[in-house]
Amino acid sequence: AKAGGRNAVCTFDPQMQASLSTRADVESELRAALRDDQLRVYFQPQVQGGRLIGAEALVRWEHPQRGLVGPAEFIPVAEESGLIVPIGERVLEVACIWAQRWQVLGGAQAPVVAVNVSARQFRAATFVPSVAAALAQSGVDPGRIKLELTETVVLENVDDSIARMQALKALGVGLSMDDFGTGYSSLTYLKRLPVDQIKIDRSFVRDLPDDQNDAVIVRAIIAMAASLGLEVLAEGVETSAQQAFLEAAGCVRMQGYLHGRPMPPEALEALLGSD
Ligand code: C2E
Ligand code: CA
Ligand code: CA
Ligand code: CA
Repeated sequence: AKAGGRNAVCTFDPQMQASLSTRADVESELRAALRDDQLRVYFQPQVQGGRLIGAEALVRWEHPQRGLVGPAEFIPVAEESGLIVPIGERVLEVACIWAQRWQVLGGAQAPVVAVNVSARQFRAATFVPSVAAALAQSGVDPGRIKLELTETVVLENVDDSIARMQALKALGVGLSMDDFGTGYSSLTYLKRLPVDQIKIDRSFVRDLPDDQNDAVIVRAIIAMAASLGLEVLAEGVETSAQQAFLEAAGCVRMQGYLHGRPMPPEALEALLGSD
């Protein structure tokens, strides 16, 4: 298990390896998790100049025996089995409910809530209607929700993806390109995609400001975002030296352990208006 504070999640546990050895075991346990409401949605702060501007919804599994299990342990199985579709719908519903509550509490200052969308979820015919339903049921202002898509997902079938993204934009939600720079991103495609934001992947942020290659890449991504009129947000910001580099380079939105780990919604709510 990973060392850390009370919100640390189990990333690898040999005992878990032993008892959840087969994919089928994990899959049936995941079905039970959905049925018995064992999934939790944590929220990680996104900040700009010390102000809370957003929160990313990150799923955890509160396993009855093993405690809090991180998504790396079960998202792959959920993807393969198709369980990611109901799991993703559940996360979106919960995220919309909190976003609506924070909108009421915070008004214009309320954080925008970002929700991850997996490949299989994005391609399901039920996806756009399920987003519409989650928005309608919660009553949240759609502009308070941002969906995070990865470039690999989007570029696999560009024309289809663009049509789907336009349908999402028509609902009023924002779109963010997650893990930017790790896939096959090309300027040509990026220009065609109806995204509002680019998230610079943590792998480019980790060795800032010393690594010259990463510094060049990060500056290029920021310049590209600016020239396309897109918001840019850096993920995985852990040190004030990284923050200083990013701010000097023109990326003022960030997310990372420096500003807060993923936390239960009640803890995120305590941060509202506290800046
Ligand atoms: P991601 O979308 O890139 O989410 C960011 C991950 O980086 C989170 O890991 C977060 O806890 C971690 N992180 C944030 N700040 C820092 C930092 O400063 N340093 C380091 N070392 N790590 C940081 P987490 O919560 O374990 O999630 C892992 C991945 O699982 C996510 O990566 C996302 O791809 C996936 N995931 C999480 N929740 C969902 C979900 O509801 N649906 C889907 N489809 N995928 C999800
Ligand atoms: Ca994400
Ligand atoms: Ca990411
Ligand atoms: Ca990432």
